[in-house]
Amino acid sequence: MKVETEIPKVYSPESIEPYWARVWVEQKLYRPSEDAARPRFSLAIPPPNVTGSLHIGHMLEHTEIDILMRWHRMRGEDVLWLPGTDHASIATQMIVEQELGREALPDLEGGSAAMAAWRREGQRRRLEMGPQKFLERCWQWKEQSGGRIRKQMERLGASVDWTRDRFTLDADYSRAVFEVFARLYREGLIYRGTYIVNWCPRCGTAVSDLEVVHEDRPGKLWYIRYPFEDGSGYVTVATTRPETMLGDTAVAVNPSDSRYRGAVGRRLVLPLLKRVIPVVADDFVDPKFGTGAVKVTPAHDPNDFGIATRHNLPHLKVLDEKALMTEAAGPYQGLDRYKARERVLDDLRASGLLEKEEDYALSVGVCSRCKTVVEPILSRQWFMKMQPLAEPAIRAVEEGRIRIVPENYRKIYLDWMHNIHDWCISRQLWWGHRIPVWTCEQCGEVLVSEESPGACSKCAGSGLRPETDVLDTWFSSALWPFATLGWPENTEDLRRYYPTDLMIMGFDILFFWGARMIMMGLKFMNEAPFRELYIHALVRDAERQKMSKTKGNVIDPLEVTEKYGTDAVRFALAISAAPGTDIAFSYDKIESYRAFANKIWNAGRFILMNLEKLGPEARSRVAAAYEAASKNGFGPLPTDPTLELADRWIFSRLATITQEIEDALVDYRFHEASHKVYHFFWHEFCDWYLEWIKPEITRPLGPEESCNAWANLLLVFESALHLLHPFMPFITEELWHRLPNREAEVSISLKPFALVGPQAANPDAERDFGNIRDLVVAARNAKAEAGLQKEKVAAQAATEDPALLRLFNVHQQTVLRLAGLESLDLVSGRLETGTHVTSAFELQLLYEKQVDPDAERFRLAKERDKLEGALVRVKKQLENRSFLDRAPEEVVRATESRRAELEIQFQKVVESLERLG
Ligand SMILES: [Zn+2]
Ligand SMILES: [Zn+2]
Repeated sequence: MKVETEIPKVYSPESIEPYWARVWVEQKLYRPSEDAARPRFSLAIPPPNVTGSLHIGHMLEHTEIDILMRWHRMRGEDVLWLPGTDHASIATQMIVEQELGREALPDLEGGSAAMAAWRREGQRRRLEMGPQKFLERCWQWKEQSGGRIRKQMERLGASVDWTRDRFTLDADYSRAVFEVFARLYREGLIYRGTYIVNWCPRCGTAVSDLEVVHEDRPGKLWYIRYPFEDGSGYVTVATTRPETMLGDTAVAVNPSDSRYRGAVGRRLVLPLLKRVIPVVADDFVDPKFGTGAVKVTPAHDPNDFGIATRHNLPHLKVLDEKALMTEAAGPYQGLDRYKARERVLDDLRASGLLEKEEDYALSVGVCSRCKTVVEPILSRQWFMKMQPLAEPAIRAVEEGRIRIVPENYRKIYLDWMHNIHDWCISRQLWWGHRIPVWTCEQCGEVLVSEESPGACSKCAGSGLRPETDVLDTWFSSALWPFATLGWPENTEDLRRYYPTDLMIMGFDILFFWGARMIMMGLKFMNEAPFRELYIHALVRDAERQKMSKTKGNVIDPLEVTEKYGTDAVRFALAISAAPGTDIAFSYDKIESYRAFANKIWNAGRFILMNLEKLGPEARSRVAAAYEAASKNGFGPLPTDPTLELADRWIFSRLATITQEIEDALVDYRFHEASHKVYHFFWHEFCDWYLEWIKPEITRPLGPEESCNAWANLLLVFESALHLLHPFMPFITEELWHRLPNREAEVSISLKPFALVGPQAANPDAERDFGNIRDLVVAARNAKAEAGLQKEKVAAQAATEDPALLRLFNVHQQTVLRLAGLESLDLVSGRLETGTHVTSAFELQLLYEKQVDPDAERFRLAKERDKLEGALVRVKKQLENRSFLDRAPEEVVRATESRRAELEIQFQKVVESLERLG
């Protein structure tokens, strides 16, 4: 381990974080123990896409996961955090195309126009290169991007087991994908069919419903007249997409719509193309939309496709895969869809068949990758039947075998699952898992096989045509929790680490990924893939705006970790991460937790430097006492009657805070856990404990003197480092190694989380310490009010409680020092003019300046009014039925004792006022 005696004055994360990041990886510290005697805790990382580098959202996700992993590891569990990346079929293919375009057109200056040009050129170059060369480029890209992601994760301190790193296109993983496809196909859950799919004309592939983003845009509703064939009038239909009328094969009305009773069954002439089409009646038609009569375009609308199936209508495809009009569009053939719309409208106007147009708000579906408007078209694709898979996945959540946190996502999940549609799983892309299917050219037999089967199993023909489509990228990621553990082999990892214990993800991929993992896990492993699913929040800017490159408010994780240190950024994220609430993140926030890291560093430095000053002999005695105490497991210490009050108090605080942090982490209340540890370290350990014991540790230690104060301090500081470690792994590792006897140890991360057990809880010590703290604070406030902060002043304190008086007497010297008093006169009973009053004691300063009775009266009257107001509010609350019914019992109890306290204080102030006359 690193040996450095002098602790640097200035905390500089850049000099310690990269060092430990490297050591942790080199020592393979985060391989699971594989010790069957320990409880196990496993999580498979949500695999980042190999499309680039990690953003702040990843950093939040990894920080939350890492806090939990380190915590469980320190609790002695066998922890596996399995890392990996996703090939991200469509996203990666697009980026590689874009790179190809950029190489060909290096002079363009960027911006969206250049991007579009690069994509166009890249697509052209891909087709020119052919699949083999293009896929080589994709693999090169994967090496680069995957390497970058790994470096970033290491730098962020993610405690993953790199020896189990997985990639969705690995050979083993691909075997699992093939196996799942083959089994589902044999069971009839995967089928090929011709249906309406969402088609991206730019990407040239089908995309699933989830990959279509809906945008609100202003549009128009056009009313078009379709004349009856016999010349006796017309039916007016309303449409938002007039160019698709070229593909109409009927007009439909609702059977209950009396306006069209005579029309059903009659024939219309389709304007412009003069084809004859029928009027059909179908329940699906909404009589309230437009005129109640709608055009039916079976090849370009999923609902119309349904109507066509029910009424046996033909499908006429008028738009092709590039969104150009086809031959079936007659004179409009070859026109782009928007150009065709203009021409169709012009021609309708000219023929007098365009009745009117109205403004109409549209929800337009665009490709989530490239923002091109998607076109619903009829296409032959592969689909997965979802309903039979969804049912067990619904039950698993309903029966509580999977707990979804926060709770509201449970309902969102169930609603979606109850309304699930079949999933289009084929993509017309190159980068991905090729669909493992061969079709016999002689007899049409479909053969499912990973490698070419050589000959047809039915007719022995050798003409086998391979499927060229690849699978939707989410097909493979749905298998992540078990495929990463070696499935379909029955590996030891699979037996030990499946089902995993936890999954953490953003809401945006709950359906893409979360729901599908649950379905696949239940189907192939008969067990849900994880016991808990925590949905984390989004990271937004300080004004709660979404971060985006165009707004320029993006916070880059690498940049901020370089500048402020990883620990500070992690802590700032964790303390902002309240479940169910988006995170307002800012540089200011990171700055203030960098100050916290500084505070920790300075506290460590203060302790270690004073230890150094003791000299070698005393130092080794301290080290021995400390070692003996830590071997004791800290158990007997808190009850040791010789223990100082400050020690009993801080050990009790440690016990309480440890429990509170653990309770918060169980429920993913990262913000609360971080607040607790922050408050403990800064406001209890540094502000009170260190100040209290300062004289003990800043003086030389005689040869016969007890080392207790020192040993206790080291124990408390070490305990605090343990509690801080999951949140701030680097600084805690560094300081911990500098403690006596810790230099040669491996890592704080392999030590217990809690060094102080619940038996250290000591309500008496907390009460006594609290009273003294109140007395010190009262004296400091009194001095501040009198403008005497800097001076040593005499004071007088009184209480009617003999035990409290004894306590104050015992700790008088400490009170004098901490409050900056010259002397403290302690009296039993009441003061003539108690100026600072709590329910337990009164305090007043004794100094030359005469108290101005008017000013004092004014101050006390103000104090009385304030107390009276507070008392009224508390009483009101305690009379409020709904508060009493709903508030937790401890809150009600706390409110009651607050009332009692306020009453005493109020009474005392009133008496003081009376004494002043
Ligand atoms: Zn697209
Ligand atoms: Zn055959």
